[in-house]
Amino acid sequence: MTLKLHNTLSRQKEIFEPIDKDDIRMYVCGPTVYDLAHIGNARPVVVFDVLYRLLKSLYPKVTYVRNITDVDDKINAKAAETGVDIRTITEGTAAVFRQDMAALNAQEPDAEPRATDHIPEMIAMIKTLLEKGHAYEAEGHVLFSVSSWDDYGKLSGHNRDEIIAGARVEVAPYKRDPADFVLWKPSSGIEPGWESDWGFGRPGWHLECSAMSEKFLGDEFDIHGGGQDLIFPHHENEIAQSRCSHGTAHMARLWMHNGYLMSEGEKMSKSLGNFYTVHDLLKEFPGEAIRLALLKTHYRKPLDFTRAGIREAKAELDGFYRAIQHLSDVESIEHIEPIHEIEVPNTVESALLDDLNTPLAIACVHVLADYALNPNSGVHHPTGAPTNVEMGWVKYRLLTQASLLGFLQHDPEQWFKGVSGDGLDEAAIDELVAKRVEARANKDFAESDRIRDELAEQGVILEDGAGGTTWRRE
Ligand SMILES: [Zn+2]
Repeated sequence: MTLKLHNTLSRQKEIFEPIDKDDIRMYVCGPTVYDLAHIGNARPVVVFDVLYRLLKSLYPKVTYVRNITDVDDKINAKAAETGVDIRTITEGTAAVFRQDMAALNAQEPDAEPRATDHIPEMIAMIKTLLEKGHAYEAEGHVLFSVSSWDDYGKLSGHNRDEIIAGARVEVAPYKRDPADFVLWKPSSGIEPGWESDWGFGRPGWHLECSAMSEKFLGDEFDIHGGGQDLIFPHHENEIAQSRCSHGTAHMARLWMHNGYLMSEGEKMSKSLGNFYTVHDLLKEFPGEAIRLALLKTHYRKPLDFTRAGIREAKAELDGFYRAIQHLSDVESIEHIEPIHEIEVPNTVESALLDDLNTPLAIACVHVLADYALNPNSGVHHPTGAPTNVEMGWVKYRLLTQASLLGFLQHDPEQWFKGVSGDGLDEAAIDELVAKRVEARANKDFAESDRIRDELAEQGVILEDGAGGTTWRRE
């Protein structure tokens, strides 16, 4: 078992060597809670959830930390615009974020620290940076001095001149160097703030992650993740703060970044109508289908997210659930001595071990599901029909392999009745189905057809069988 992951720092795939194999430590930058999560925010959550699941299958303990940024100028602006107080905005948004991510089958991290609960730790880190000569105070601000540290720019590959040339913001007069960035800034009376040696103020965004990762994961930890857009300046600045404060060779050994997300072929924007919040998508589609649509593209590649893609993913998941339903009478068995040659690939793990190759891993689940539905198909060349025990093993593999990717997390019957969506609820459907049964018993076929059509319009398909009428959602 060798896990290989792409390291943004070295720009190559590396064999993962844990700092402590008894406790793998991972940090992923979390949401700034001022608005509902859009589908681009969901991509890193789902990608690093797959990594979290994989690491937990390989090591006895994994500590996964994802912060919540609840002090930020975007939050202040939202409060000013809506008149709602900051704590109400951040608590409400964080609660919906948790629900939305749970609907995508993303497991909760082991710790989810909020920035505003860690202001003393941030102040302590600023003091250390000042003492070590990596920061300076100017007009109520504390700034990190980029020229004080030679390794600045190694993650992003930007050199200092490029950084200055690329700075779009007007350089503040109190900065000694245009590349310097804020560790602490003054707050006016209406902005949130805390007392400090440098006056009433609030921390810079980059500092939050350095202080919280130190508290929960230590000075050096294994993996730091996030979206590609965070490489510069956010992650570059996190590294500068943490390494200068701790005097370590690394902040995280391995830096992983997921690629950009486009929507319906274009950059997501509210004016183009392709701006999808997870919350809205969940009213129409099951979270598991959204998750599959996100994972069908390798995490480092750009992803074009489309509604058609979610529908396709839903159809694929229907196939997986049909396979499990087909094996409902078979007992799941972990180990067997096969009587026949069952050529079912065992490669979801191996696909994921190779830098989280989710497209290949999903293809492996398809092979297992196809085999479950049609064990005598030519592709697998089994010698003779598989026994029930062998099919039990196939069931075990299908469930465990799909689970490693966070799929097949529902009961098949529940899945086909709909796990989310704002259509008719189950009781309403059951009632209509009962009315139709009655109409048929009275030979009122016009009414029976009318009910069938009404349900079809709501995406509910009826199946009349020997045992009566069952229903499922499209
Ligand atoms: Zn961060």
